[in-house]
Order: sequence, then C-alpha cells, then structure tokens
Amino acid sequence: MDALPARSLHDLGFSELVEVLTEDGVIAHHAKSLWRALHREGEISLSTRGFLPPLQRWVENHVGAGKPFFLDVPEMVDEIRSTDGLTRKFLLKLDDGQVIETVLMGYDGRQTVCVSTQAGCAMGCVFCATGQMGFVRHLRPGEIIAQVLHARRILHQISPNKRLRNLVMMGMGEPLHNFDSVMHALDIISDVRGIGIGPSKIAISTVGVVPGIERMTSENSPYRLAVSLHGSTEDERAALVPASKRWPLDMLISACRDYGQKTGRRIFFEWTLIEGKNDSPATAARLASLLEGIDAHINLIPLNPTGGYHGKASHSGHAFQKILRAAGFPCTFRQRRGIDVAAGCGMLKAEKTQGRDRHSERSARMDEE
Ligand code: SAH
Ligand code: SF4
Repeated sequence: MDALPARSLHDLGFSELVEVLTEDGVIAHHAKSLWRALHREGEISLSTRGFLPPLQRWVENHVGAGKPFFLDVPEMVDEIRSTDGLTRKFLLKLDDGQVIETVLMGYDGRQTVCVSTQAGCAMGCVFCATGQMGFVRHLRPGEIIAQVLHARRILHQISPNKRLRNLVMMGMGEPLHNFDSVMHALDIISDVRGIGIGPSKIAISTVGVVPGIERMTSENSPYRLAVSLHGSTEDERAALVPASKRWPLDMLISACRDYGQKTGRRIFFEWTLIEGKNDSPATAARLASLLEGIDAHINLIPLNPTGGYHGKASHSGHAFQKILRAAGFPCTFRQRRGIDVAAGCGMLKAEKTQGRDRHSERSARMDEE
C-alpha cells in the first residue's frame, strides 16, 4: 500500500493535533507543548526542542523528510526593503517551488503583516499585477500561517520589543475563493495560545465573492470585512473587475447590507482611484447613494503602476473624498508605503517565477539607501 501523503503540522487545528497525538498513544497534554512550539515560539525545527520524552520521541519518529508530517517553513528567496526601512517584502518559496509574497509594514507605530492566500488569482482585475498573472493554486492553511510566523521572526530580529498585532489579507489572491483554508488559518492565527492576533485586528479583503460574504454573515465571522468595490455602476465596475459579471454590483451591495445588519459590523470599502475611470464627482455621488444606510468606511487607494495596465493614478482623489465625507462617510486614503519596493497594493507579483532578475534591482535599491 502506498504511504499517505505527508501532512503539515501547521495545517492542523488544536483538536486535530490532539487527535493525531492520542492516536499514536501520546497523551493529549503534550499537544499544548507542541502547539506552543509551532505557533507561539515559531520553531522552524522540532528535533532539538527538548520536549518531554514521549513527545520528543513522537517528533523524532513522525516529523521530517520521509515521515508522515512536516513543518511549513518557506524559504526566503529575497527580501526587499523600502527606502524608509518601514516596509519589507519577502519573497517566499513554497515546497513546490511557487513563490509568494508577504509584506511586513511598520508605520503608524503598528506592525501589520499582509499575507497571500493564493499563488496568483483567478479574478483578473485589470489593474492588479496578481490578476494579470492568473490563478496558480490555493494556499493551504499552513502556508498562510507560515507567512505570519516568518514576518514575526523577522520583526523579532529587527525590533525585539515590537509585537505583530495586525493582519490583512491583501497579498496575492482572493481570500474568499479559498474560504475554508483561510478561515481555518485565521482560527489558528487568532488562538491566544499561539500567535494570538485578535480577530478584530484581522481584515479579509475580497473582490466581492458574494457566497463568501454570505458565509461570513451566517457564521458571524469575527474578522473585519473589506470589499474592493472600484465602481458605482455595473458597467463602471465590470470594466475593472471581471468578477462583477459573476456577482453583479446590486447582488454584492445587498450581501454587504445584510452582513452589516446581521453582524452589526462596519464594512471597509476599498476604492482604487483611476483617472477617468472611476474618479468623477458623479461617481462619488453615486457611490454615496449606493452605500446609504450601510455602516461603511471608504478607503481610497491611489492606483499603483503595474506592467499590464496603462491606466493612471487619479488627481481628483481629494474632491472625491470630500463628496463622500459630505455624505457622512468616513473616507481616508491608504498610505502609499512600500511603493518603491513594488510592495504596494496589487504589485505583489512573484516576478521571480517569471524569470526577472530581481537581484540586480535589489542591489540597486540597497545602493540608494
Ligand atoms: N483579492 C482581494 C485582496 C487582495 S488585493 C481583493 O481584491 O480585495 C488587495 C487590494 O489591492 C484590493 O483592494 C485591490 O483592489 C487593490 N489593488 C490591486 N491592484 C492595485 C493597484 N495596481 N493599485 C492600487 N490598488 C490595487
Ligand atoms: Fe485578485 Fe484582488 Fe488582484 Fe482582483 S485585486 S485580481 S481579486 S488579488
């Protein structure tokens, strides 16, 4: 009989870990030590950890090459720092060679990690570098968790006193297209015995996958919801976001309305401002009436350049903001940190896999610093 494929210990929830250990005759009590090592200490190897003998023996027999379990420890193939030193982009190579991106941002005194949920993305938003590369595959929960552990490890090296307290799912991929893995990863990431990032400090950003929003409503998901809107009419939106044809604007807004009413939570609407496409006063006014009655915060994002799209960043952002504010909506601009390292929104494309020589670019940047 063929051996079962190896599983990542990082994929397992706490109760699954208990089950795995007890099946092998290791008492449940040891699961706590193993969980702590994996998620609180972020150990990258368990062989020299010095667990109590029954657990250490289990680890020796079960974890590692050719054994039933492994750890998700992606290899960092590159790290690029912004010139202000506050943003670091990590290119992380997964076991199958896929390269994904994770960003550690340290502005406003807050430490935030931005994680990827898929390699590539199937949604095809025209202005987004990840959309331009297409869908490769979903990430497993362990691969999502491992990004947080990696960012935390680096943060600990550079600023031992700072804690990673915030997480946004705004890296590569559409989180609600990978719903189960994303929610499972977030359950583990928010567990206070482990990484312990509070659910209210975690934001899931979606392009508007309506069934996923409906599930967040019915499951009363504790995480924050951000919806990338970008258009105030079906035509305006569909020209930028092809997924709007599948989940039209009116359907999306009614799912948002229902989410707000049933969960009592505020929704963050993301709006990438593109000159001549979605930045007119008429669009702002339509957006205000579209969102009427929803507890909404609107986040304006100046368009970041990407290779596959020739639109321009808007110059009318402040007028746009003014109209929304006058209509009573909190409306802010997303900070444009990390642009110089291609770590801004939508620039998270794994160029490494596309054969571009990043090292020359990186050394050029180091020279600038
Ligand atoms: N797939 C999810 C999360 C990842 S994209 C989503 O679409 O919400 C994160 C955010 O970056 C989204 O709001 C997206 O619209 C925005 N974005 C993508 N490409 C961008 C670009 N080139 N310039 C500015 N914002 C961009
Ligand atoms: Fe995917 Fe979000 Fe990019 Fe759209 S903006 S292609 S949903 S990652």
